[in-house]
Amino acid sequence: MDSSVYVFVEDLRGEGVERVLDRISAYGVSGVTVGAVHHASRDVTPHGLSRLTVRHDGAHFTPPPELFAGLRLSPVPGYPNALDGLREACAKRSMKLHGWTVFLRNATLGTEHPDVTVRDCFGDRGSLTDLCPAHPDVREYAVALARAVARLGVDSVVAESLHFRPLKPQRSFVPLGPMDAYLFGLCFCDYCMRRATDLGVHAEVARDECARIVGGVLDGDPPAQGEVTRAALTAYAGPDVVAYARARSETVTTLVSEVASAVAEEGSKLVFVDSTGAVKGYRDGLPTPGLAAHDAWQLGVDLVALGDLVPAFGVLAYARDAARVADDVGAYLRSVGKDREVRAVLRPGHPDSDSTDRLVAKARGARAAGALAVDFYAYGLAPHPVLERIPAALSS
Ligand SMILES: [Zn+2]
Repeated sequence: MDSSVYVFVEDLRGEGVERVLDRISAYGVSGVTVGAVHHASRDVTPHGLSRLTVRHDGAHFTPPPELFAGLRLSPVPGYPNALDGLREACAKRSMKLHGWTVFLRNATLGTEHPDVTVRDCFGDRGSLTDLCPAHPDVREYAVALARAVARLGVDSVVAESLHFRPLKPQRSFVPLGPMDAYLFGLCFCDYCMRRATDLGVHAEVARDECARIVGGVLDGDPPAQGEVTRAALTAYAGPDVVAYARARSETVTTLVSEVASAVAEEGSKLVFVDSTGAVKGYRDGLPTPGLAAHDAWQLGVDLVALGDLVPAFGVLAYARDAARVADDVGAYLRSVGKDREVRAVLRPGHPDSDSTDRLVAKARGARAAGALAVDFYAYGLAPHPVLERIPAALSS
């Protein structure tokens, strides 16, 4: 069975490429998924060079200048030599190399160019971290970035954040319900409004309705009850808002299609990873009830449409329960098509897996449900004893 371990460039810089690959190949995995373009974060790294690692937005290679000539957005420079020797080290061990690429989550670019970020129903650009997938400059950047990563000679470009993202305030002492938060997170920038209008949606009505509802809750109205579903949203916010939400998938589908074609032209293949599984289960491994495949539309991800355009998908199976992992993989395959490659991304330790047996059960469940690969997230975030559960999961 195909498999890989997610690795950060800080892992390679800290321990050295050869040492990291020696360890990973000893687990029996068949590849490495390296963070070629990553977003800023501050992470506990139990066996890292420092125990707390500060990551910056950055592309960790030298982008071919011709790809970004004339574009307004270009990659934020990271550690340009971090991937040196990695492809050769993988080849020497007969391991595949995948280039993990974070596309639209980039506070550095958003702060430099606020006009390319998402804009809420009140007209505010409240999240400079989130580049809007409808903005033409963002779309050109995404296509060029995908080509640049493909040209590193990777077996696949693993796309993260190539869609809309949910609202993520650091503090909120207002009891927003899931539907209120969803409406608050919708982008109403000029480009999103235009695309929706072109599809026959009453975009301004939708925006005003969102502002009325969310504004009411911020003023003290009771929050919405229940999870976000299309039916509940129709009842709560009306058909124009639902039509507007649906129109977002056209924006994402066309962007992913352009990116997938560019990657294929460069001789690699796209693995599309939507964040729904992380939205649901990231914190504690106890995902909210709806399966990721059924709720992906909320981020503008139309898996049925993408199934015709993208060769492979990663499912973030961030859950403690093996049955849930199997259900998520099964629902994904039913959406994207049985002949598509679906890779289950598992966390081998806290908060999803408290034992080797649990990890083994999840890998087995993913495989039984039709996953063609299992990937483990992530090398630098998990203690060594946790990583040592991987061989059992692969041989079960
Ligand atoms: Zn927008």
